[in-house]
Amino acid sequence: MLGLMQRRELLISSIIQHAARHHGEAEVVSRRDDGRIVRTTYRALERRARKLMGALRELGVGFGDRVATLAMNSDRHLELYYAISGMGAVCHTINPRLALDDIAYILTHAEDHVLFMDACFAPLAAAVAPKVAATLRVIVALAEPGEMKQLELPPGVTQFDYESLIEAAREEEDWPVFDENTASGLCYTSGTTGKPKGVLYSHRSSLLHAFAINSADAVGTRATTRVLPVVPMFHVNAWGIPYAAPMVGAALIMPGRHLDPVSLLGLMDGERVDLSVGVPTVWLALVNHMRQTGAGFKTLKRIMSGGAALPRALVVAFAELGVEACQGWGMTETSPVVVYNGPKPATAILEGESRCDHATRQGRALFGADIRATGPEGAETSWDGKSQGDISCRGHWIAKGYFRAPDSEIGDNAWFSTGDVGVIDQNGYMLLTDRSKDLIKSGGEWISSIE
Ligand code: AMP
Repeated sequence: MLGLMQRRELLISSIIQHAARHHGEAEVVSRRDDGRIVRTTYRALERRARKLMGALRELGVGFGDRVATLAMNSDRHLELYYAISGMGAVCHTINPRLALDDIAYILTHAEDHVLFMDACFAPLAAAVAPKVAATLRVIVALAEPGEMKQLELPPGVTQFDYESLIEAAREEEDWPVFDENTASGLCYTSGTTGKPKGVLYSHRSSLLHAFAINSADAVGTRATTRVLPVVPMFHVNAWGIPYAAPMVGAALIMPGRHLDPVSLLGLMDGERVDLSVGVPTVWLALVNHMRQTGAGFKTLKRIMSGGAALPRALVVAFAELGVEACQGWGMTETSPVVVYNGPKPATAILEGESRCDHATRQGRALFGADIRATGPEGAETSWDGKSQGDISCRGHWIAKGYFRAPDSEIGDNAWFSTGDVGVIDQNGYMLLTDRSKDLIKSGGEWISSIE
């Protein structure tokens, strides 16, 4: 229709273009495997991502192809996020903590021809390569020339180093434009029975999720924020932070593989981090370390916790350290954030014990996603904080099926069953009370209760 608003595709590349143009000097700080700290900016990163697009094409990567990464949080992994998705390929992040056979299954199922890996995962890559020799063609070490020795690889698999590839690549001038419903990312999630299942994100879903978590009542990163995602970029896109931060020009502080409390605290203090995001086990270790050493945070103001219930004791411990602990909930299938425990007039007035109690609720639905709890007959339970039900959700960034699993399709408007059980209170806050899935989480990773 004429005289209407402009319609532009919601593409992931638009985030890094905006960051380079309007927040060009904003920093991305990364800790390398050897502990070194390296610094770059969104302007420099955007340019290197365009070179990386050229390098990917030279490696034979085309539109829709899956490209695997086995990597921790770093500027290089961020370049891969933008270059791979930006050219219309699919950034397939692999969890290095999975069993070798699961990693081999995932690489084969996704038909990844190219795998980028941190040098610390070289033994893993060398062990998995013979199992995926039918599909894998290229391994790229995220390293300088000569920094990593040549792996013993099956015939037909070639090894490159990342920096030489980028150096030699032609810089692409423009980010390609295509349909926002194109797949952008792929992340496999474990089940109790059967093989891991692939969740395929789109440009549109990733952008809308980033907008949503950036709202003031959710994670809400700002140009003045310095955010440290402890949650790895192979866990549901580090909960969307790699998109949300550059969207507003927030500085990104990437810890690499150094996730112990001493390293994290050093990076937080040294890089003036005010917001950090991760699972409760990380926070418990950090808080214990602070207690043992009597140390305090220099700049940290807020943490977001997710992936498992936020214990009340952690809320209290952080409050004593002058840090607000907030909670979100979601799954790999939900991009992940569906609910976030932001205040409402009725909860903002809570103090002391009741404030801490309230913080253990997972949260209320963000605009763009919806939740409900249903009883055994399928009817929605009342929002009274007592009536338990199976939690399901739907929205712009909730999966409607699994990758290459046509039987799993539920459709665009259907409620996705989460396997979590909980109550919703009169203010719309969900509290998980149980789960119907036969899985247990340990340190942020699933293990089946059978195992
Ligand atoms: P994953 O797909 O590995 O991200 O795991 C998603 C599952 O983690 C959810 O279905 C919940 O069982 C659990 N989970 C995520 N966030 C929370 C939270 N804030 N509180 C309790 N459980 C959570």
